[in-house]
Amino acid sequence: MDSKVVGILGGGQLGRMIVEAAHRLNIKTVVLDVGQSSAKQINALDEHVDGSFNDPEAIAKLAAKCDILTVEIEHVNTEALKHIRDTTGIQIYPMPETLELIKDKYLQKKHLIAHGIPVAESSDVESSAEALAAVGASYGYPYMLKSRTMAYDGRGNFVVKTAADIAEALDVLKDRPLYAEKWAPFVKELAVMVVRATDGQVYSYPTVETIHVNNVCHTVFAPARVNDTIQRKAQIMADNAVKSFPGAGIFGVEMFLLANGELLINEIAPRPHNSGHYTIDACVTSQFEAHVRSITGLPMPKGFTSFATTSTNSIMLNVLGAEQPNGEMEDCERRLAYIEGKAATVVGEEAATKEKPLVGVIMGSDS
Ligand code: ATP
Ligand code: MG
Ligand code: MG
Repeated sequence: MDSKVVGILGGGQLGRMIVEAAHRLNIKTVVLDVGQSSAKQINALDEHVDGSFNDPEAIAKLAAKCDILTVEIEHVNTEALKHIRDTTGIQIYPMPETLELIKDKYLQKKHLIAHGIPVAESSDVESSAEALAAVGASYGYPYMLKSRTMAYDGRGNFVVKTAADIAEALDVLKDRPLYAEKWAPFVKELAVMVVRATDGQVYSYPTVETIHVNNVCHTVFAPARVNDTIQRKAQIMADNAVKSFPGAGIFGVEMFLLANGELLINEIAPRPHNSGHYTIDACVTSQFEAHVRSITGLPMPKGFTSFATTSTNSIMLNVLGAEQPNGEMEDCERRLAYIEGKAATVVGEEAATKEKPLVGVIMGSDS
């Protein structure tokens, strides 16, 4: 089997699942993160690097042990990655230039627009009451104020509902580089995982539906409950977006579906994504294995992005540590009871899938 060693920047749950997939392919993985992170816990090696994925020295230490570097998070030191690649020739997927574009959400938007990909209108905005009021006058209310950098799980977003919210918006997002986005009046949020192989070929997984609660992905329905035309249109748009990033690796493409059937891309994650966890149980090949195959140049098996059976339906629940001890387990039990037909009442979103058999519920966790 392949003897390439893959170094992973970041040792959280996504890194851990990349490790699992790599090991099944007999590919060795070395992890860079602080302490005994979860990816290191299932990877008995004394070569892991203890440090930050933003520290050039730690990145250099990791690179010295590996043939290929990859990431489980985009908020890494891309200057250090470019330097290592240019001085050592090590392969890095996704490419540092891609990470650089994506980790600044406003640069990402400009990149997508330059490649003809539809997105919500946006503009960079300085952190002042006058500038925010001017955006309101131009976009109308509500509009979305976002931090360009270090954003995840909505931590970096503020919905400016009226001009009266401006002071609070500035306070919540103080000291962060900002941009503003026109409100996207979506009827559903969709997502597509797309993997790009080293030969430039892209492969999309089925279009799924994501439901966010307080800006955090809460439930994923796979496939999305939309007609085939929208299913396909979303895949094509996601493929085109990912084709604009050279290199290899898996990408999670988040989209808004508008009432008229129009699709806008919200944002792209250059890594495995929580909307793709369902692939572990529901698809021929998981997003993690697809990622490892793509960055190491292994063959992409025929039909690997398909559902495991023609009637596969799946729900992924994102289980986060709750304020109530074990509160999330109660949520899981309630949903499992529903799937097993024991629950008397179900929430509307779940009811719509009831006619179709479900093959499983994947309990995800945060990211
Ligand atoms: P992630 O954890 O997905 O990286 P994030 O912090 O980068 O999240 P976004 O994906 O930008 O945040 O936004 C989070 C959610 O906020 C979206 O999934 C969507 O529900 C809502 N949202 C974002 N932008 C807009 C918009 N322009 N109009 C309406 N809703 C929006
Ligand atoms: Mg994001
Ligand atoms: Mg998002």
